[in-house]
Formats: sequence, structure tokens, C-alpha cells
Amino acid sequence: MRKLTDQYGREITYLRLSVTEKCNLSCFYCRSDPGKCGIEPVEGSLEVKDYLKIGRIAAGLGINRIRLTGGEPLVHPDILEIVSGLANLDGINDLSLTTNGILLEKMASQLAKAGLNRVNISLDSLDESNFRQITNGGKLASTLKGIDRSLDEGLKPVKINVVLLKGINEHEIENFVRLTLSRELDVRFIEYMPVGGQHGNWSRYFLPLDRVLEIAHTIAPLSIVEGNHGGGPARYCRLEGAIGKLGLISPLSRHFCDRCNRLRVTSDGKVKPCLFSDQELDLRPHLDHPEQLKNVLLEAIKRKPDPGKSASNSLARMKQFEGKRPMINIGG
Ligand code: SAM
Repeated sequence: MRKLTDQYGREITYLRLSVTEKCNLSCFYCRSDPGKCGIEPVEGSLEVKDYLKIGRIAAGLGINRIRLTGGEPLVHPDILEIVSGLANLDGINDLSLTTNGILLEKMASQLAKAGLNRVNISLDSLDESNFRQITNGGKLASTLKGIDRSLDEGLKPVKINVVLLKGINEHEIENFVRLTLSRELDVRFIEYMPVGGQHGNWSRYFLPLDRVLEIAHTIAPLSIVEGNHGGGPARYCRLEGAIGKLGLISPLSRHFCDRCNRLRVTSDGKVKPCLFSDQELDLRPHLDHPEQLKNVLLEAIKRKPDPGKSASNSLARMKQFEGKRPMINIGG
């Protein structure tokens, strides 16, 4: 198959598909109205067959990896059907899912059987009370059990995503880093992004990831893990003797737009050429017309922004991005 590239020479291989805006947690930093996390918008959500149509056309174009996200993808009543449908598509060789892990203890085995390859689990605190506060009532023990069950079921590598938040979980950096010493986990710190909905709170909580490296160096010698790691945005390193890796995802302090390999589709059927851009193309009028659907996906790729125009310092980037849909409405 020919490579699918954009006009800047980036190969597009990866589709992030949001299956719901609904979530069973309501993390204070994630959306503008935390009260709406449990509510699915009444109109406009795609159906199972629509996700499969989009996946099939994308795979035919050259996409070989799909990640399901949300909202919380595991609250979708038909998530197993979506997983098995996408896993069976020709050309898809990596099907993954981003989750808060709450439902994984119950579902990891069924997900693995349905054809899911691996999971990324969001976990912003290892302290029960801090976890409860950040997530507005979530139970840390549920996510921890979900992590264990995912490892048991072979949904590997299991990646743990920690959004670093100044004054909220920065005191837990050391505990997160130490997790990699004894567990087969890739613990990835992510910079808090001003993607919309934070009501000016972004600068209050933003912390560049340099702090993580400073702390990791005090624990043990650190070495860089080379490789392209599936084309993802994380830079990886490893503490001496550690089983797991440490990942750093710095969209602000060290952006990676020149390596962007993805398209995003929201659960209301909009394809986004770029997480940070306001541009969206509606797939819904074309769902029953494969040729048109293909053309809209190609148009979205054509509209991916010029990586050379991404501001290089974090403050300017914040201004470029501010005021867009919050993460939960896009699919994080
Ligand atoms: N419910 C799933 C989960 O918890 O992983 C998937 C959706 S959630 C929106 C995806 C990820 O986006 C979570 O790790 C969340 O912490 C992260 N996130 C939300 N808002 C963010 C922001 N402004 N900057 C960086 N990450 C953010």
C-alpha cells in the first residue's frame, strides 16, 4: 500500500476515535462544566456501524493504528462490538484504548478477547484522597485493580498517563517515577495543555516536565531509551535497574508537530486535522458514501497545519491554542 502523507511529508498512520463524550469521573481540569461528564449529548453521536465505516475507509487509505478514546470509552454500552469490529479490519495492526481504568477490572479480559491490543491508563495521583479530589469522587483502588488486570490479560505495554499539575500532584512525581523500578509499566508525564474549558486556570496548574527529570536523577542514574516508540510523541528514559520506562510528553515546552502522524474523529462525527486547531470537517453527511467519506478524510489530511508555523516557546503556543473544545469533547 502507498504511504499516506500530508503536504509536509509527515506519514499519517494513526487515527484517534472518540466513542463518547460521557465519563464516569469528572476531573476538575479536563472540561469546562464538570457537571456534564455523566451526560451524553442527545443528538449527533455516531453509531457502532459509523465507527466501523470510518475505520474501514481509514485503513484502506493507509492508517494502521487506531486508538479509542472519549469521554470514557468503557462506558459506551457497545464498546466490545466496536473493538471487535475494528480489530477485524484489514490493515489495522494496533488497536488501543485510553481509559481511566475504573472499569478495567471487570472488562480487561473481554476487551482482550475482542481483539484489543493494549491500553493507556490515566492516573493523576497515587494517593487515595488526592485521587478522589482530582477526579471528583473516583476510587483509586478501582484504577489500580484495572492496571493489574490489564497486565494479567496482556494488554501491553500498559502505559500510565499522568497529567502534571502544579500544586496538585507535583509532590507525587517521585512516587510515580519509583513505580517504574518495580512494575512493568511505562509511566508517562504529560504537560497540561490549554485546550479549552479551563477558564484561565491553565497557567495556574501548568508545570514544564523538567521537574520530573530533576527528581528522577536523584533516584538513580537515568539513560535515554532510543527508538521511535511507535511514532508517538513521548521521549523515553529508564532508571538504572528499572523494569518500566519513564516517558515525557511535552506538547508545550518541546512541541512535536513536525512528527504528527494522526487524525482525530470526535464522537459527534467531526474529523480534526489538529488537536489544537479549530478546524473540523463533518463526516456524518458522508457516512453512506464511501468515496465521499474517503475524500473528507483526505481533505482533513490536506488541512493539517504547517509544523513550521507552530510557535516554539510555550507561552506563544498557549496563545495559539487557547479557547478550543475541551479535551473531553475532542477525545483525549
Ligand atoms: N477517559 C479516558 C481517560 O481518562 O484516559 C479518555 C479521555 S481523557 C479526556 C484523556 C486524557 O486527557 C486523560 O489522561 C486526561 O488526563 C487528559 N487531559 C484532559 N485535559 C487535558 C489537558 N488540558 N491537558 C493535558 N491532558 C489533558
